[in-house]
Amino acid sequence: MDLVEFQGKQLFGRNGVPVPPAGGICRTVEEIVAAAEEQLGTGASAVVVKAQVKTGGRGKAGGVKLATSVDEAREHGEAILGLDIKGHTVNVVYVEPASDIAEEYYLSVMHDRVNKGHLVICSREGGVDIEEVNRTDPDAVVKRSLTPHEVTDGLPLATATAIVTQANLPDEVLGAAADLLVKLFDAYHNEDTTLAEINPLIRTDDDRIIALDAKVTLDGNSAFRHDGYEEWKIDGIDADDPLEAEAKAKGIQYVKLDGTVGVLGNGAGLVMATLDVVAQSGGRAANFLDVGGGASADAMAESLALVLKDPAVSSVLVNIFGGITRGEEVANGVIEATRRLGDFPQKLVVRLDGTNAEEGRRILEEAALPNVLSAATMQEAAAEAVRLAQA
Ligand code: GDP
Ligand code: MN
Repeated sequence: MDLVEFQGKQLFGRNGVPVPPAGGICRTVEEIVAAAEEQLGTGASAVVVKAQVKTGGRGKAGGVKLATSVDEAREHGEAILGLDIKGHTVNVVYVEPASDIAEEYYLSVMHDRVNKGHLVICSREGGVDIEEVNRTDPDAVVKRSLTPHEVTDGLPLATATAIVTQANLPDEVLGAAADLLVKLFDAYHNEDTTLAEINPLIRTDDDRIIALDAKVTLDGNSAFRHDGYEEWKIDGIDADDPLEAEAKAKGIQYVKLDGTVGVLGNGAGLVMATLDVVAQSGGRAANFLDVGGGASADAMAESLALVLKDPAVSSVLVNIFGGITRGEEVANGVIEATRRLGDFPQKLVVRLDGTNAEEGRRILEEAALPNVLSAATMQEAAAEAVRLAQA
């Protein structure tokens, strides 16, 4: 479960990570005006009006704006409330006393599944897309992998100091930055997060180090230890991705990813392999969906409908190896699904193998559906789906 920024800052704050003074959580222009009035009236020279949505790049999308007067805050509030940022509607706005920025850095801690440990990333180049910095100037991004053994009592200060020093943060702030990193690691660990990211981490004009933004992902597997994360559920912000929530309600194994090729298969292993083949073909999967072992026509129809609902999906790869699920059932499911869905712009590439695959392919061929193509192998199917997604 992802937190929105103000929640991430609350989580940081209670673990000792320096954050800006607490702001106001607002759902109406009136509340934004009241928050700005209060903050400007009690010493803040400016406030920052920030959209609270579970996606990055809010600044670029017009969702983060500074105001030096109540009227300006009102104007920004009117513009930001209701704004659509990458498919997320802004229902909640955070108004916070603005900070003076001398420099912007990047700092994060996340699970490192490959190394079965943790990964700290630190860069002097912050406030921008860190993946872009990593592509253009990899030396500017320090990546330090940590084994669980190294952090049994938290992140040692010496390790934190080495990381921020290697990232070339200025001498004046090394102490404060190392201290903050130790606390960030505490927050990451104590709260069972899989990601705790600060972008930007700022140096103020008077050399303080503060988390100006917060991106936190809580580990769903640890929800039982935190009362189901009830404390973070708030009005106006979906706890889960809406499609994942729908899938969960319908008992469909679905994980939203960030590519354009919808992927649907039977069996978690096969679906994972399909994601790899899509990547090898130069594409990016939009999701993981496992229709399960005994996929009925009904389950197939429900699953396809869900995948096609994602606006990012440009083509769909249906990869079924018939075992318990027989080929003709899959074929009938695809036909039933397209019938139920009516017109949809995306093309499906279906690869059928295993039990009664030939029968299934024959049924699909006879149905001659305009947006369904058949492919003989997984590689061919993936290549075709990727080509269609990029067309
Ligand atoms: P994001 O675009 O979703 O990552 O939102 P951020 O919270 O990172 O804000 C985007 C940018 O707005 C930051 O990199 C800053 O440059 C700027 N910004 C945010 N808050 C403040 C603030 O309090 N003071 C100043 N001067 N700029 C801010
Ligand atoms: Mn940011």
